[in-house]
Amino acid sequence: MIQLRNNKKLLMIDGFTYHKNGAKRRNGVRWCCSSKMRGCPAAIVLNEELGTILLAGGKHDHEPPKYYKENQYYIKYDEAPRRSKFDSDTSL
Ligand SMILES: [Zn+2]
Repeated sequence: MIQLRNNKKLLMIDGFTYHKNGAKRRNGVRWCCSSKMRGCPAAIVLNEELGTILLAGGKHDHEPPKYYKENQYYIKYDEAPRRSKFDSDTSL
């Protein structure tokens, strides 16, 4: 389980992140790949009490997202603030 800056919690397995889907199964809760919105079919069923994965289905159709850790938080690389290249460009 990893924690993001915005207090969201994600599950990280083999570099892929999952968010809670909420659908309860008999022994656990379904978590979907964070890239589900982009069409990734991968999902797991996790028993949160035991911390074990009961079921893993689907294959990721993308590369794992890149995260870096800052203090206790994980930050996705493409969410990092970018400094504008044009700040000091006043020439014409
Ligand atoms: Zn995926």
